[in-house]
Amino acid sequence: MLAESLKVTPFAMMSRPVAGVRNKSLILTLPGSVKGAKENLEAVIDVLPHACMQAAGADSRSLHAGGVKKLEAEAGVAAGGGRHDHHHHGGGHVVPKPHTSPEDRPMSNDPSAGPTRRHRTSPYPMISVEEALAIIERETPSPRVEEVPVEEDLVGHVLAKDVYANEDVPAYRASIVDGYAVIAKETRPNTKGVFPVAYVSHAERSSISLPPLRPGKIVRVTTGAPLPPNANAVVMVEDTIVKSTTIDGKEEATVEILTDDIKPGENVREPGSDVAEGSKILSKGDVLSAVGGEIGLLASTGNTDVKVYTKPIVGVLSTGDELVRHDAERALHEGEIRDSNRPALISCLMAWGIETVDLGIVSDSSKDLETVLRDALRGTMDHPPVDVIITTGGVSMGERDLLKPTIERLLGGTIHFGRVAMKPGKPTTFATIPRKTSNNPRKQVAIFALPGNPASALVTMHLFVLPALHKLMGFSHPDGTEDRPSRGLPRVRAVLAHPIPRDPKRTEYHRAVVTASRDGRLRASSTGLEGVGQRSSRVASMAKANALLVLPPGVESLPEGELVEALMMGQIVPGN
Ligand code: AMP
Ligand code: MG
Repeated sequence: MLAESLKVTPFAMMSRPVAGVRNKSLILTLPGSVKGAKENLEAVIDVLPHACMQAAGADSRSLHAGGVKKLEAEAGVAAGGGRHDHHHHGGGHVVPKPHTSPEDRPMSNDPSAGPTRRHRTSPYPMISVEEALAIIERETPSPRVEEVPVEEDLVGHVLAKDVYANEDVPAYRASIVDGYAVIAKETRPNTKGVFPVAYVSHAERSSISLPPLRPGKIVRVTTGAPLPPNANAVVMVEDTIVKSTTIDGKEEATVEILTDDIKPGENVREPGSDVAEGSKILSKGDVLSAVGGEIGLLASTGNTDVKVYTKPIVGVLSTGDELVRHDAERALHEGEIRDSNRPALISCLMAWGIETVDLGIVSDSSKDLETVLRDALRGTMDHPPVDVIITTGGVSMGERDLLKPTIERLLGGTIHFGRVAMKPGKPTTFATIPRKTSNNPRKQVAIFALPGNPASALVTMHLFVLPALHKLMGFSHPDGTEDRPSRGLPRVRAVLAHPIPRDPKRTEYHRAVVTASRDGRLRASSTGLEGVGQRSSRVASMAKANALLVLPPGVESLPEGELVEALMMGQIVPGN
């Protein structure tokens, strides 16, 4: 009745029709206005005979035999609220026709529908990990370019443009050693003998140019100091002895050079001999690593600003009414658990060099989720708009699993996949949401709705989120061999240190420690086998793990000594 009245006027929402059964009588309340009463009654009158029979206590089983279609035919009504329209238009049997195809409609549950109206199995097709990675690769936005100063926080950025040396390195003729600048010859007698020390050239900025070196004299130079004009080689201090000192005894007056083997050019760095001005020093796609070499090179060649790919900003939130902050200083009540996913995922991102926004714990309410996600897309007083959102929990089939419907129905997002054939991590969900507001150049926000179980959350974070971040960060296209993709976790092969059972159906990402043996082989041992060992709720299975072993499905255990693929999450540790 309400639904029909709403088609007539929005004011219908002010009325609250009530219906009930008392002493086998069906009672309906109609609005006071004649027009309203008529419309309301018309809305339900076709079903009243059936309703009355049921209210009177007819046997429900025989009443419903033949199914809904038969009931609809008897009552002269059609499914989907489309009553046969002959009252209104007269003639013409109008068949209700949908204007969307099933693929266009949301697949997610309607959160307001009760448990009886929810899907009992996931409507999302189960796809393979490889398909999931291909979809992530395709749907993750392309990287953006910005110009930034060469500073220490550049580590982890990828160059968006080739870089050339602005200057010669070194810019002047410099000594490679501590010693004495000499005029060396190809022939003997050469540098052997006792020489007066004309002056000292330090590695320092000098305002006047050095006086030329006269034949028969030498100049003391320190490492990196400029050579005097005319000097063409440096004798290292080890090849000399002090012969006499100045009157105050502080400086050397004469020095004896013990060798005659010094060649012209020895121990001298010519201008531009390390890096020549104008030469290419780094290429587009090179990573500015934590080793420091690239940033050192940029700094030494007068590059003060470079073009890099902008790193994404990633928002992280946990969902669940059962969650309590991990640092809450109180005992847990029945049903409560500490939120371990958010701190774990944020630490992971920080270690990957990503700026994070802590979006907190969100209750199992579509409204709250929508609010937090909208703020994340738009940015607030406290944080900038994010480019990627990572959520945990709320993606399985329970009634509080609100991520998919919220993304799809409230935020207009597209769910690209909602189920992956893997263990753990089956309900992993990936979507993109259009960013309508703000002048943010990134119009699409990628959202990873990871499973709530802590081990699943961390495994899927490494497996699925990292490659997307790598794409956004400008890591080159995964065009390498399958073994060596340039995005995501590095792959190696390791030998099993002991037998490991397998899952019969799904590829397992088994948490393990990979060690480098003295014989040069990599060995993998599980972080937990028997019973609860690898259970997806057991976050301890991720503790100390530095690798995920990719175990293909199968019935028999993999034997000790089997060579398996390992995805490295952390550094390889030394073993026996
Ligand atoms: P859900 O996907 O929301 O059904 O969560 C699956 C399981 O993971 C439940 O046992 C949750 O209590 C647990 N869980 C969900 N979120 C978190 C979290 N942030 N930290 C630790 N456990 C969680
Ligand atoms: Mg939950």
